[in-house]
Amino acid sequence: MNDLHGIGVASGRVSGPVAAMPPPIGEPAEDGQLEEGPDRDRAVALLESSSSAVGAELSARAVAAREAGRDDAAEVLEATAMMALDATLLGEAKTRIGQGSRPERAVWEAAGQVAEQLSSLGGYMAERVRDVQDVRDRLVAELTGRPAPGIPVREDPFVLVARDLAPADTATLDPSKVAALVTEQGGPTSHTAILARALGLPAVVAVAGATDLVDGTWVLVDGAQGTVVIDPTEEQRGTAAAAQAPTSLAVAGGTSDGHRVGLYANVGDPSGIEEAVAAGAEGVGLFRTEFCFLDRAEAPSVDEQVAAYERVFAAFGGHRVVVRTLDAGADKPLPFVTSDDEPNPALGVRGLRTAQRSPQVLQDQLTAIARAAAGSDAEVWVMAPMVATAEEASAFAEQAHGAGLPTAGVMVEVPSAALTADLVLAACDFASIGTNDLAQYTMAADRQLGVLATLNDPWQPALLRLIAMTAEAGTRTGRAVGVCGEAAADPLLACVLVGLGVTSLSMTPRALPAVGAALAELTLACCAELAEAAVSSESPAAARESVASILNRSP
Ligand code: PEP
Ligand code: MG
Repeated sequence: MNDLHGIGVASGRVSGPVAAMPPPIGEPAEDGQLEEGPDRDRAVALLESSSSAVGAELSARAVAAREAGRDDAAEVLEATAMMALDATLLGEAKTRIGQGSRPERAVWEAAGQVAEQLSSLGGYMAERVRDVQDVRDRLVAELTGRPAPGIPVREDPFVLVARDLAPADTATLDPSKVAALVTEQGGPTSHTAILARALGLPAVVAVAGATDLVDGTWVLVDGAQGTVVIDPTEEQRGTAAAAQAPTSLAVAGGTSDGHRVGLYANVGDPSGIEEAVAAGAEGVGLFRTEFCFLDRAEAPSVDEQVAAYERVFAAFGGHRVVVRTLDAGADKPLPFVTSDDEPNPALGVRGLRTAQRSPQVLQDQLTAIARAAAGSDAEVWVMAPMVATAEEASAFAEQAHGAGLPTAGVMVEVPSAALTADLVLAACDFASIGTNDLAQYTMAADRQLGVLATLNDPWQPALLRLIAMTAEAGTRTGRAVGVCGEAAADPLLACVLVGLGVTSLSMTPRALPAVGAALAELTLACCAELAEAAVSSESPAAARESVASILNRSP
């Protein structure tokens, strides 16, 4: 097999054996009734031994996760282990076997019934539906002799190869075991890419043929080049022992001639703040509050939200924390604010738009943010995702100000907001450009589709031009315009963004040292020259090349 190529989305060189993510477990067929008598008895015994095996395996992993200090993963595993031994689920399955169903079909149907009952109870119970489905799949795998679904479990570090990774897959991903990520699908801003950068794992996405790699095959993953070398030589493996990059920002953000650029961290849930503090972030430029709402059947209470937000504000006392209100919909559907019957969810009721249908969810969130802010000395800013018009920006700012939050802005993620950035900025206090979504909507290319990954490349000149328009509007109106999409985590592109006029950059904490160092080497005039070259290039590749050639030319 030849070496494989894709799009490198998180740099680093690592070699290791492949462990493939098993294919999802499908619904077992209804056919093949069991005869009354020994066949059914054997099926019940098999169900019992399978449930014990699955329960024991999950419990052992929960203990290991707890010992490793990964409490979140331990909780998920403990809940799933309990469900594997659940008397109602097993009782329902046995009843069906007693009527002649094969055990895998019986488990599937029984789980469906239990899930339905839990959903109808709402609240905490409805949140257990995912555990039931996970256990169902594990039991069906065990009963039919297939590998367990989810991230493979191995003694030694491995390169995880998957079609793509969903947020749910990653809850139990152990970064001490997963050395690198390779996916067949996904683009530069897909979950896999965001996760890899957050965990500091080298990753290559959109790799055609990745899922044909056989388990155990040794590969060398180069996340900068976007290559997967199969059976690397000893010498190549040696080069993978990469020099350790610095882990903390050396200096305050800015260019070599003293132009200040705020360098902030993107934080996904309060447990990420330690890393942000350790990396020397000036504050939080994007606090994705979805974590508080994910896996919930109903919105969390104001009190619950206040407690979660206070943790982040406390870690950044005296510094800026930009809180993004709930960004539900499309790749982050939430049952209580999004509907599941839209033909085009990415173009549907998502982000701020969900507030039309569920105004109380937004009002409660603003109340919670304001209450948490009042009890801390962090400089709390608030912003709304998926804003398309100046009217929306103005309505949001008014509501946020009314809730007691003095600095209210919007994310520029929709081309219309960039095109009317002067009006949008006149209607609120600041803007932060979400380049992940701005790329997908500018290029009309789903950010989760591997085949369209090159269209979602953040070096696309069309995207850079919209960023330039927004930054220029910021200069004209005197408003801050930052970038908080993945583009900010690419050291070279970060310099281009500063040259385009953005005033701050927010990124995964691990990217801060490299971005800070790149910026500190260049003058503002040089950044502007790079920006000019990039926006006038005809493709992302040409943009990268012309920027590199400016930097490489002799002084
Ligand atoms: C973006 O779209 O660039 C962004 C930062 O938001 P998210 O990736 O959470 O959609
Ligand atoms: Mg977005």
